[in-house]
Amino acid sequence: SIRISRLEKRFGPVFAVDGVNLDIAAGEFIALLGPSGSGKTTILMSVAGFEFPTSGTIQVDSEDLTYVPSNRRNLGMVFQNYTLFPHMTILDNVAFPLKMRGLPKAERHARAEAALATVRLGGYGSRRPNELSGGQQQRVALARAIVYQPRVLLMDEPLSALDKNLREDMQLEIKRLHAELGITVIFVTHDQSEALTMADRIAVLKDGKIQQIGPARELYERPANLFTAGFVGEMN
Ligand code: ATP
Repeated sequence: SIRISRLEKRFGPVFAVDGVNLDIAAGEFIALLGPSGSGKTTILMSVAGFEFPTSGTIQVDSEDLTYVPSNRRNLGMVFQNYTLFPHMTILDNVAFPLKMRGLPKAERHARAEAALATVRLGGYGSRRPNELSGGQQQRVALARAIVYQPRVLLMDEPLSALDKNLREDMQLEIKRLHAELGITVIFVTHDQSEALTMADRIAVLKDGKIQQIGPARELYERPANLFTAGFVGEMN
């Protein structure tokens, strides 16, 4: 489980995150939904350990990780520009986080093969990124994120570069992975329908504050304020 308590992050005069409390159960799929500049990425970066908050705490499984560096948090990450290393094979791309962790080669390869099979790319290991479609490359990025069996998967607009059909396929793929691995997911998006279709609960953000949090249905039926009502209602 993840517990974010009184999280605040200031950049000069800007309150990027302004007092966020969020409890996420183990295995839950949470979407952070909000317009540009609402603080979604900053929250994710704080959980990832790429940003340290101005104040507040981040606990994972009751362990305080607030100031623990990113490489010691055991989190999988997929970001919008999921750049793979173009000169490496797919297998080496996926195995890369294991190399960073000093695992022996045979184990790296076995685990990378397994992760590729999980995203249905078994048999693609010897290819290079430019021989794969955008959606396949995205799945390689997912395989790379789960290869060391992280307890939490963080995704920041991972599908926004894909066209509509691919995006819908990948939404299903990510949901399937989530169900199969039982992993906790925090998924950042500004796309209402994406959040509504994917998440167990949605946190709606504005100006660094959570406006409302709940399952899609609850946000629809009982919006806490005009902002939530307007924003959640804007389906596309
Ligand atoms: P987007 O969907 O556009 O990525 P977001 O909801 O993820 O937006 P953040 O990127 O978290 O929002 O930004 C929240 C606020 O903090 C914005 O006003 C942004 O300009 C500011 N901000 C974020 N990072 C920095 C930084 N490194 N330096 C200064 N200001 C920053």
